[in-house]
Amino acid sequence: MAMANSLCYAGPFPVKTPSKQSPVQLPGACVVRRSLPYLKFTARPASSSPPAVVVASASTVEAEPQAKSPTPPKVLPFRVGHGFDLHRLEPGYPLIIGGINIPHDRGCEAHSDGDVLLHCVVDAILGALGLPDIGQIFPDTDPKWKGAPSSVFMKEAVRLMNEAGYELGNLDSTLILQRPKLSPHKEAIRANLCELLGADPSVVNLKAKTHEKVDSLGENRSIAAHTVVLLVRK
Ligand SMILES: [Zn+2]
Repeated sequence: MAMANSLCYAGPFPVKTPSKQSPVQLPGACVVRRSLPYLKFTARPASSSPPAVVVASASTVEAEPQAKSPTPPKVLPFRVGHGFDLHRLEPGYPLIIGGINIPHDRGCEAHSDGDVLLHCVVDAILGALGLPDIGQIFPDTDPKWKGAPSSVFMKEAVRLMNEAGYELGNLDSTLILQRPKLSPHKEAIRANLCELLGADPSVVNLKAKTHEKVDSLGENRSIAAHTVVLLVRK
């Protein structure tokens, strides 16, 4: 996943916080009273009205008053997101796909467990929510994510989705790798993905294809994944 230390983000809708806590209202005048585990909210400079989100290792949430937006944020009945990820394959590393350890002669060299599928699913959910990408929310420059199981990122993405008032409509993922064959492992991967998402198997689809021996993907030197999600307003 991409490296980044900071980001600017203006969410398209108010993010609901867990019960008993005040909402974190992203657009317009912003009042934030609670602590979020990974995100810090600060004012976006210049003309844009919504506050920006800045990644922080600290758990504090800060916000400054903003000029009121001329139009209210749209609360859409559906939101679509796309995720993409690619990792280099190197000998001596485990190959973890969708939380399942796949026997292979090499695996992903990455700061976390290098789970290309979970990373791109997280990115698709974050993208649908109009949030920054996984590399910005969980920067690989932060030692706390070193070797972290990607299920941690998934749980956070699902939490953000729920707090925003959405649930998974359906998800379609495509893995691209030359070797090994994924068909013996596909159902285990999909079952684990469903569990992490809290989703019925009927709305979680997983496909795999080779890269026709072309480029690094086709030469067993990398692995990639695409995911599209549809989120539905609860
Ligand atoms: Zn990744």
